[in-house]
Amino acid sequence: MDLEKLWQSTLGEMEIQLTKANFSMWLRDSRLIDRRDGALYVALPSSFAKTWVEDKYHKNILGILRNMDSSVKKVEFVVNSQSTVPQKTTVDARDLSKIDSAELEFSSVDPVTCLNPHYTFSSFVVGPSNELAFAAAKAITEQIGKYNPFFVYGGVGLGKTHLIQAVGNEILTKYNKKIRPMYVPSEQFTREVVWGLRNDRIETVKKKYRDTDVLIIDDIQFIGGKEKTEEEFFHTFNALYENNKQIIISSDRPPQSIPTLEERLRSRFEGGFVADIGYPEYEMRVAIIRGKLSEAQRDLNEDVIDTLARRLRKNIREMEGVLKKLLFLQEQRHMEITKAVAEDVIEKSTKNLSKRVNDSQILKAVAEFFNVTIEDLISHNRRKEVVEPRQIAMYLLREISELSYPYIGEKMGRDHTTAIHSYEKINQEINKNSAFNQKILTIKDIIYKS
Ligand code: ADP
Ligand code: MG
Repeated sequence: MDLEKLWQSTLGEMEIQLTKANFSMWLRDSRLIDRRDGALYVALPSSFAKTWVEDKYHKNILGILRNMDSSVKKVEFVVNSQSTVPQKTTVDARDLSKIDSAELEFSSVDPVTCLNPHYTFSSFVVGPSNELAFAAAKAITEQIGKYNPFFVYGGVGLGKTHLIQAVGNEILTKYNKKIRPMYVPSEQFTREVVWGLRNDRIETVKKKYRDTDVLIIDDIQFIGGKEKTEEEFFHTFNALYENNKQIIISSDRPPQSIPTLEERLRSRFEGGFVADIGYPEYEMRVAIIRGKLSEAQRDLNEDVIDTLARRLRKNIREMEGVLKKLLFLQEQRHMEITKAVAEDVIEKSTKNLSKRVNDSQILKAVAEFFNVTIEDLISHNRRKEVVEPRQIAMYLLREISELSYPYIGEKMGRDHTTAIHSYEKINQEINKNSAFNQKILTIKDIIYKS
């Protein structure tokens, strides 16, 4: 019997067994698409239908098929778009979490320079929030050693790694590999130094880093406080610096805010060119989304792009994450990506973060950061050292946990107008003072990592 006929007869039987509504909901758009080694493959329009049919009707369907054709051993359900799909506007959160682990890594890291060729100047969108850092980065590729060291700082997911790696990649192409850049995250540098010391191979480690022409070191804040590593880094830094080699450093905060950094290293950093990367504005966010779409040769509706750009303002990596999920749903789940779907995915991907955080984590992080106690924060002490941390705590309770002002007031032993005032004051300060903004970002980071 051919596949088409076999399936039509099966559907005929199922139609009798099921209610009309159930039949048209789950099976009407199914098709028998393949037969291999006794297995039959049935295509269903969505993963949702697949799960449902597998769960509820698998046995019946297999039974009917075997009655008609005894060589059938099993039946498998697959998701296929060819059938007409009833449009959904919500997605399965578990489905989404799979995408995080199935990261689309499309380019590999160069084993010598440790650079990822994917990070280039041409894919880097420039706007008011990063133009100074970008201009300096560009200038360095034209005149190596021009801004030395070049220190770029900014919050999580705002493009630091992309920018500093782009410098390395540009130098590779521009100078035809005659100038050797090398990229290293500071945790790796630390690991290598520790390994070198322990195995009596510190000279090898030193040589590796001192032989390079452009040393790019990412997330330097992780070096601070590790004495031996800092010492080694300082010597490497000096050796390169004195030979007019370029040093490029990134950090999540400005040099003066890395509390554990040794003074001499801090002043070296401050003596170079320091630029920050801030939050991208709406137009930039749209441009970044468009860029990622065209890179992936995909497309989304204008109002979906607008939704992403309006809702995801503070972390480009997060924005990219949501975008990947939408493209996955579009391609693999054959969903039409509407504004409602986008809202749903944003909700499910980002809300988790604030739900995970509780009040005491926030208070603890603030207290830790400012070296005060939680009791200080809640007390009526008016010392300058506790007044600002207290306001920041109230700000974060509102910003992260979206708690009501009366609740925050009560929690902090104050009335709600004090909570409102604190929120507004901190919010204003963030907008006009980028070092202050960095401080807040760092505390948030501590909270999310706790
Ligand atoms: P950071 O190192 O600051 O945490 P990344 O450099 O890893 O952030 O950037 C996070 C993601 O956002 C990367 O995939 C990067 O390509 C992308 N991205 C950041 N800034 C830009 C930009 N200006 N233009 C295009 N993509 C960007
Ligand atoms: Mg980074």
